[in-house]
Amino acid sequence: MPVKVLIPTPLRRFTGEQAEVEVNDAATVAEALSVLIREHDALKKHLFDDQDKIRSFVNVYVNDDDIRYLDRERTSIKEGDTLSIVPSIAGGAAAGGVGVVPKGNGTPASAAVVDSVVLDQDEIHRYSRHLIMPEVGMDGQKRLKAAKVLCVGAGGLGAPLTMYLAAAGIGRIGLVEFDVVDVTNLQRQLLYSTRDVGRPKLEAAAERLRHLNPHIEIAPHPDRLTSENALDLVAGYDMVVDGTDNFPTRYLVNDACVLTGKPNVYGSIFRFEGQLSVFSANAGPCYRCLFPTPPPPGLVPSCAEGGVLGVLPGIIGSLQALEAIKLAIGAGDSMIGRLLLFDALALKFRELKLRKNPECPICGPHRTITKLVDYDELCGIPRAEPAADKATGDELTPREVKAMMNRGEPFVLLDVRNVAEWNICRIEGARLIPLDALERRISELDTADKIVVHCRSGVRSRRAVATLRDMGFTKAQNMAGGILRWTDEVDPSLPKY
Ligand SMILES: [Zn+2]
Repeated sequence: MPVKVLIPTPLRRFTGEQAEVEVNDAATVAEALSVLIREHDALKKHLFDDQDKIRSFVNVYVNDDDIRYLDRERTSIKEGDTLSIVPSIAGGAAAGGVGVVPKGNGTPASAAVVDSVVLDQDEIHRYSRHLIMPEVGMDGQKRLKAAKVLCVGAGGLGAPLTMYLAAAGIGRIGLVEFDVVDVTNLQRQLLYSTRDVGRPKLEAAAERLRHLNPHIEIAPHPDRLTSENALDLVAGYDMVVDGTDNFPTRYLVNDACVLTGKPNVYGSIFRFEGQLSVFSANAGPCYRCLFPTPPPPGLVPSCAEGGVLGVLPGIIGSLQALEAIKLAIGAGDSMIGRLLLFDALALKFRELKLRKNPECPICGPHRTITKLVDYDELCGIPRAEPAADKATGDELTPREVKAMMNRGEPFVLLDVRNVAEWNICRIEGARLIPLDALERRISELDTADKIVVHCRSGVRSRRAVATLRDMGFTKAQNMAGGILRWTDEVDPSLPKY
C-alpha cells in the first residue's frame, strides 16, 4: 500500500531531486522511513542521529499532524497518507492543543492608545483604500499607526516586508541590520538599487522607507542583535518580524520574544521553498516547540551556498508583512499554531498544525531556559573564525596553489561546487566532484595523490577535506577563500558570483 513521502528542498539532493517518493509495504512511520533510507542511503545521516533517533531539527508529519503528538515513529499509516519531512531552514518560520487562538492576539494598542492617535488629512488621503474597507477602517488604520514593529534583518525577507509595513502606515518600524549592500543582493532585495552598492543597508533602507512614507518613524538599530541587547530592544516594540538568515539569530529572536511575551512573525527561505508561521508563546507554540535545537553547523546549507530564487523572499516576506498587519489591527485568523510550507517550483502551499510542546525548554511548564544564552555556542559555531587573510594548518592560499602549478608540482585540484557553479566559472585544470557526490564517487580519487580542494568561498571545501581525511586521504588540503579569493588574488578575469 503506497504512502507518499514529501521531500523538502534541502534534502532533495539525496533523492535524485525527487520531491515525492512513494513507499510501499509500510505500516508505520518507522517502516516508511527505513524503506526511504534503504533506497536513498545518503538521507540517513540527515534524518537520524547516531542513536538512530529522528534528529531534533527534523519534524515528521503524517498528513498535517506532527508525529511527536501521535505515536511518534510507531504512528501507523495507511494507504493514501502523506508523510512530510520538515527540517529547520535558516534563511531569510500554532492550534492544536492550545484551543482557539483569540483573534488579534498580540494586538498591541489598547483602546485608549488608539483613541489618542490622530490621522491628518494627508494621511486620510494616502490610506483611503484601507479606510473604506470595513476590516481596516479608521480604527484599524489608527491601530497601524500606533503599532511598533521590529524587523530583524533588512535582506531578502526584510526588503519586501519593511516596504509593505511602511506603505501600510505602521507607525514605528525598527530595523536591525549591520550589513552593506552587495551587488548579489539586487537579484531579490528590491529595497536597494544599483547605486546603493557599497552603502550600509541600514542607511539605504531607512532612506528608501522614509521616501515611501514620510508619516511614519523609521528607527535604525545599527548593532548586531545579541544576548546583551535583545531583551531591551524587543521590549520597545509590540512584535518582531524575523527576517534573519542564520540559526543563532533565529533562536535569539525566538527566546527574546518568548521572554518578553511578544509575537514573532517567522519566515524562512531556501532555494525555492519557504516556511511561514507566527510564534506567540502566550497563545501558541514557539520556534523551539517546533525545533528544540538547531542543526549542527554545515549540515544545512545557507542561501549563500544553496542559492535562492529571486522572487521567493518577495512572496514569503510579503506574507510576513500581511501577518504583522493582521496582528496589529486584530483582523482575520493569524498563523499562530500553523506552519505554511510553500514550494515555488510546484506552486503549492501546504499547511501543517503546530502544537505547543509541553517539553519546550523555554515556553513549556518545566522550562529550563529563563534568560538569553550564548547562541553561537548553541549552534556549535566556534567563537573565532581563522583569520581570512592567512591560511592556517591544512590550508593553502590561492597564491600558494598557483605557485605549485607554476612549479609543475603534481596534485589534483578538486572543485566541490555544484554543476551550476562550475558552469559560471572554473579554475583551469580543476576536476569537479560536487560535495554531495563526494562519498559516492570517492573511488575516482587516489589516496596516494596530493589533493587540493576548493569551492566558492572555502566553507564546503573545508568540509570536503574533513570527509576526505576521514576516508584515508591524508594528503588532502583546503584552498582558503575558494574561487572568490582565487579571482581576487590570482585570476581577475574570472567572474565573481
Ligand atoms: Zn516553545
